[in-house]
Amino acid sequence: MKDFYTNVNKKLYYFIMFSLIIFMTMGLFIDNPRMGDYGIGYILHVALVVILSICLLLYPRYETRVFRIIIIIVASAYFYTIFFLYPDTGSGFIFLCFIPTFSILFFNAKLFYFSLALNSISITITYIYIILFGQDYFVKQDLIGNIINFFGIQVIIFFIFYLTYGRIKKQQLYYEELKQTERLKITGHLAAAVAHEIRNPLTVVKGFLELYETDPAVNDDLKRHYRLMIDELNTANHVISQLLSVAKPNNDESVETVNVMNVLQSVTDLLRSYGLLRENHIELHVKEECFIDANTIEIKQLFLNIIKNAIEASEIGGLVKVTADRNDDFVEIKVTDYGQGMSEAEVEFLGTPFYSLKSKGTGLGMMICYNIAEKYNGAIVFQSSKGEGTTVTIRFPSKSNL
Ligand code: ADP
Ligand code: MG
Repeated sequence: MKDFYTNVNKKLYYFIMFSLIIFMTMGLFIDNPRMGDYGIGYILHVALVVILSICLLLYPRYETRVFRIIIIIVASAYFYTIFFLYPDTGSGFIFLCFIPTFSILFFNAKLFYFSLALNSISITITYIYIILFGQDYFVKQDLIGNIINFFGIQVIIFFIFYLTYGRIKKQQLYYEELKQTERLKITGHLAAAVAHEIRNPLTVVKGFLELYETDPAVNDDLKRHYRLMIDELNTANHVISQLLSVAKPNNDESVETVNVMNVLQSVTDLLRSYGLLRENHIELHVKEECFIDANTIEIKQLFLNIIKNAIEASEIGGLVKVTADRNDDFVEIKVTDYGQGMSEAEVEFLGTPFYSLKSKGTGLGMMICYNIAEKYNGAIVFQSSKGEGTTVTIRFPSKSNL
């Protein structure tokens, strides 16, 4: 309940607490039958008023679970003490019935059940005491009736808590989602604006590289490096287009027959240089020639993201296996790594924009992959176990006439 700290709520809280403290103090001094004797009972009453008052006033500063439990216990002790000290005051029993309602204000299910259980145990002990020793307690006049009333009230309180808690939880969830959507919208706009600005320098760099690539004075070895750089820049450019198209998807990517083996070959070649930097090995097994209907650049993008993730998840020197197989209906590509793996919850988050556990991750890779797969009626399935590794299965409809 972070709203608690808004000024208005704080003022209201202190106003109500001061009123309560005044009422508790009035109970101590006004027409109190035990006031004259200053016996142990009266001292206990005074002590509990002081302790409860301090707890209530300090609560906004120490909004912890332990402090809440302390408040529940002290408040229960206070009301039970009043009940036992002043057997003639009938309303003391009503307070006992309603003790769990105070814990509703903490909006915490466990604390509420704790308070409900504590109160039921306390009342049972109280009843046993009254049956055995308490002649002058008015509840004894209709013991069974009062017991039924007490538990009836507990059921009503439970019902009220159950309804309000459920509603508040739902509202909290809705509010969180709203905030998250708003945050994503803003970040999305920002990312799109930045991406747009990055495009221009990329074009300039690419232009110069292309110029050098065709320069006869440049030796072939360098030219191959330039080609690699140009390819990478093309990829970067494509990612930017993807990012920009998330808000406004365009469907004019040309669909062609993609030779999965060729694409995997070029992607693994490209990544091998990246993988080798970390001494990783990429093993490629393509059993048959597999063809799918898609856009080559996009399919490249998809494999690149998934295999790059596999390398990044692996330990230095770790193996990444890429296999492709086909049956009558599907082409199935599997990327297996033996790296850090993911928990079930982490797998569920995959594809959420900006979800990344890496310090330099963008958290856009998997979102783009899912979008591409969906576009060509494909599917991506993760099998992962924490600490053991991950297998990503990518399935596309096989091109039928081949
Ligand atoms: P990025 O790579 O920029 O972090 P991605 O969308 O590609 O974004 O991946 C999101 C997150 O999913 C990664 O940060 C990583 O934690 C997790 N992830 C993806 N693939 C794997 C994998 N093969 N093994 C372990 N974690 C993975
Ligand atoms: Mg990635």
